[in-house]
Amino acid sequence: MVSFSGAGLSAESGVPTFRDAQTGGLWAKHDPMRLASPQGFAEDPQLVSEWYAHRRRAIAEAQPNGAHIALARHPEMIHVTQNVDDLLHRAGAKQVIQLHGTIAADRCHASCGYEEAVDMTDPPGLRHCPDCGDQLRPAVVWFGEALPSSAWTDAEQACRDCDVLLVIGTSAVVYPAAGLIGLAKSAGAKIVIVNTQASDASSLADVELLGNASEVVPALLEEPARPR
Ligand SMILES: [Zn+2]
Repeated sequence: MVSFSGAGLSAESGVPTFRDAQTGGLWAKHDPMRLASPQGFAEDPQLVSEWYAHRRRAIAEAQPNGAHIALARHPEMIHVTQNVDDLLHRAGAKQVIQLHGTIAADRCHASCGYEEAVDMTDPPGLRHCPDCGDQLRPAVVWFGEALPSSAWTDAEQACRDCDVLLVIGTSAVVYPAAGLIGLAKSAGAKIVIVNTQASDASSLADVELLGNASEVVPALLEEPARPR
């Protein structure tokens, strides 16, 4: 079994979606493209840095929920996720493929290969790459950027090889990630979808379970009680 998750996995942990994190505060007036694109970073790196510090602090305050914990209890499972948060890791999951990168690290904007973990509770400001001198930036995939090729190749392999793809909390509208469900299905996997509502992916589901991830996923994965 392989899991494939999106924002719905972490929503119950209090991790705001990109749009939710923007609403109501001083960030609402900013175009998402200015906060999360190479062009936006070139125009105003300080603004982008402050936005990610804001997001990092919010994620640092969130805790893994029952779904993260139930997934992490299965060390044989590979977890493909569109989420940039570190909640699966903090729940103890070992095999995590983050298609959109991780917010828990900075990397060199010039892609020289330098990357380092950041303190999410006390995020760093703008800094330069110690190896090549270019700017450091969050190790996430921005609008207009390609997915990390190794993560994508690993995710395709996992989806091709699995017997069951457990799709959690994603409406599967964001390509190319959404194509992984079709890939698994055409390779013969059963598709089990856990989501709060039906979505574009519903037509691919062999089983669709509507409900909160933190309740449905533990119920699905826990060992049946054995008589003693
Ligand atoms: Zn560098």
